[in-house]
Amino acid sequence: MKIETIAIHAGNHVDASSKAVIQPIVLSTTFERAVDGTFPGGHIYSRASNPNRALLENLLAKLESGADAASFSSGNAAGMSVFQSLEPGTHIIAPDDMYHGLRNQLKNLFAGILEFDFVDINNSDVLQQHIMPHTGLIWIETPSNPLLKITDIKKVVNIAKTHGIKVACDNTFATPVCQRPLELGADLVMHSCTKYFGGHSDLMGGALITKEKSDWWAKIRQVQEYGGAIPAPMDCYMLVRSMKTLPYRMRGHVHNAQLLAEYLEKHPKVEQVMYPGLPSHPQHEIAKAQMDSFGGMLSFCLNGGEEEARRVINSLKIFTRATSLGGVESLIEHRATMEGPDTKTPFNLLRVSVGLEHIDDLVADMAKALG
Ligand SMILES: *Cc1c(COP(=O)(O)O)cnc(C)c1O
Repeated sequence: MKIETIAIHAGNHVDASSKAVIQPIVLSTTFERAVDGTFPGGHIYSRASNPNRALLENLLAKLESGADAASFSSGNAAGMSVFQSLEPGTHIIAPDDMYHGLRNQLKNLFAGILEFDFVDINNSDVLQQHIMPHTGLIWIETPSNPLLKITDIKKVVNIAKTHGIKVACDNTFATPVCQRPLELGADLVMHSCTKYFGGHSDLMGGALITKEKSDWWAKIRQVQEYGGAIPAPMDCYMLVRSMKTLPYRMRGHVHNAQLLAEYLEKHPKVEQVMYPGLPSHPQHEIAKAQMDSFGGMLSFCLNGGEEEARRVINSLKIFTRATSLGGVESLIEHRATMEGPDTKTPFNLLRVSVGLEHIDDLVADMAKALG
């Protein structure tokens, strides 16, 4: 089936008892046993599984072409579960511009438990130099946040395979509408459902999707169940509801982002635009080969440094000054401020989550702010 059909049907079925067309929200934390002690409804206790979560996880697995999915209370909880599933002492190779929240998680919570290096994963020589006998995981994020760097997924997978190393990909920026890393050979996909999956900036969630049901996956399921960083039934319901429109929302985000990127690139006050859909993007060809479309995120750098970036961001009327991404409304942020003192992000960079407003209004707002 095509992704539009999966998005609508894989997370829903007609309720067997009430015949409700939309899956009811099941708030019960516990489920009745049959007289023989079994659980005919398939659920025992809601930390382990719940009808709304089961449907959400089925939807996530199908959208990413995976064998199974596990959902979490946030993207960072999903990432944390991956790191907790590894044997202590395992070495991880992660990108030098990894999402700052997960980079800080590794640095602050896993120092002394896991080993990690943050490197330019796209450079095969650098990547190979950092592989050690106890390297167990290569973490990739493409397009990356906030520089929109593209990692060649197949190339990394090939290097990892020759060393028996697993590859996990943070696919939050792309979503399965634009890119499906499991089909390109990755072992695991991670999402912040808070972003495009939720799509309306009103819920937090995270997800992991596996290519196959391995021992490693069983361990991740244990972390989910025993760790308990699970989403509530209401959040699962909200996510399933939002994800029905994901393919159509992504089309709008991609369309608007491409046109805004093209507009910004021609503007004399703009030094550089980072968007994988632009032929000027240094990895445009890799993006074209591994993505169906280029996503709704872009960053741009202004001539005139931080001061000019701040003037522009404060002059916009439709774009809201806020972090996060993937909602229907356009957001813009001065990323270096958000990332804090150890940021490597240029101070004249603004990151944009291009929303679903009409592109003419977005361009007009930007034109006025740029002056
Ligand atoms: C937001 C985000 C995360 C973390 O997700 P939360 O839901 O905020 O915990 C991880 N990776 C990327 C790329 C993100 O944008």
